Amino acid sequence: MTVRIAGVVRESIVDGPGIRFVVFTQGCPHHCPGCHNPESHDPAGGYDCDIEKILTEIKKDPLLKGVTFSGGEPFDQPEPLAELAAEIKKLELDLFIYTGYLFEDLQGRCDPATDRLISLADYIVDGPFLLSQRSLELKFRGSKNQRMIDVAQTLKAGRTVTMEETDSAC
Ligand code: SF4
Repeated sequence: MTVRIAGVVRESIVDGPGIRFVVFTQGCPHHCPGCHNPESHDPAGGYDCDIEKILTEIKKDPLLKGVTFSGGEPFDQPEPLAELAAEIKKLELDLFIYTGYLFEDLQGRCDPATDRLISLADYIVDGPFLLSQRSLELKFRGSKNQRMIDVAQTLKAGRTVTMEETDSAC
């Protein structure tokens, strides 16, 4: 199975806690003004990459705390990313996902692949980047409207629970 990507960063410390392998997916419908990654918007850009190949690269690095799916828009490719996410979780790495969609709208899709990808994530940072709410003081987010959602707590509580509420180390 392949996923369309813009590229990867093998060791990042700005896309979630700890040292992380980041997969930048290709294709984004949100077109947020001020987007840091505009070359990832065109769904015809980038290249197809076998998820096994990505997994092999992840397994090479013993320093990784986790993996991050960023964009582009990861939730426009939920099937291959859910497959990749399932293998990542077997390695006991945590999974951060950035999305320009609102979490509740993703849940409202009632799409099995989307639901599977949500359930495999530890944290989801949701919502578009809003230039008017940009802040350099936020950790792992670009604008104040974006929420860092604790997925396990959210699914357990049946309401959206943010990392601030659960007093996470992040
Ligand atoms: S969702 Fe992310 S990648 Fe897409 S336009 Fe907005 S900031 Fe850029």
